[in-house]
Amino acid sequence: MMSLYIVFFIFGAMIGSFLNAVIYRLPRKINIAHPRSHCTKCKKLIYWYENIPILSYIFLRGKCSKCKEPYSIQYPLVELFIGLVSIFLMPRSLDSMSIMYFFLYFGIFCALFCHFLIDVKHQILPDSINIYLGLSFLCISLLKNPPVFYLSGAAIGFLFPYLVTLAFYHLKGQQGLGGGDIKLFAVLGIILGPVGIINNIFLSCFFGALFSLVMMALGKMSRTTKLAFGPFIIIVAVFQVYFPTLFKQFSSLWSI
Ligand SMILES: [Zn+2]
Repeated sequence: MMSLYIVFFIFGAMIGSFLNAVIYRLPRKINIAHPRSHCTKCKKLIYWYENIPILSYIFLRGKCSKCKEPYSIQYPLVELFIGLVSIFLMPRSLDSMSIMYFFLYFGIFCALFCHFLIDVKHQILPDSINIYLGLSFLCISLLKNPPVFYLSGAAIGFLFPYLVTLAFYHLKGQQGLGGGDIKLFAVLGIILGPVGIINNIFLSCFFGALFSLVMMALGKMSRTTKLAFGPFIIIVAVFQVYFPTLFKQFSSLWSI
């Protein structure tokens, strides 16, 4: 059992290393596979033994071996975190169905994680990640739910925020939600269904507004600061998808 934990951790940490590249390259429109990883300052190629998740960062003391440019602590932390997530999602039995579900749910978490960090840093939710999420959600929903569930979920997830944004734009001349946010709601509707996606829209708006108010009260944000909204959608969605019983107990607070 212990050795299985190690296998899943190493697998997760390696994927975490790949996600670091995705998070850096995708918003900069650099190809994910080419060129190979290199130091962003002196362009020195990073050899495979300098690219071992977590360990290389420790051996290199967080610096480029040639120019000593410090590497972000984000890299080993992401590798560690995704390694732990892989253990957390580890299937109870190793039959093909459980392994397939592991890859689906692990992949979805990785995609949401990249979405989160890219939106915080660059205020975009890339289409390619939304498409990946949409297809993964569809795989799960096709196995578990009737068509009316995911079709109405996607329709509500798209139309409701879209129409509110449109109305808001006509009334105030400001764009409330970005296109990426609306697309994310639409794909989440596929797995959350009609009720789940409405819960997500209201809760993410609530937490987003609460966060803005607190930041304004602390003087860290002004009325015109543009806030990435994706992270709020994602945090709520992670609870809904990965901790459904906890979320049900929480949502019973306001549903009758
Ligand atoms: Zn360097």
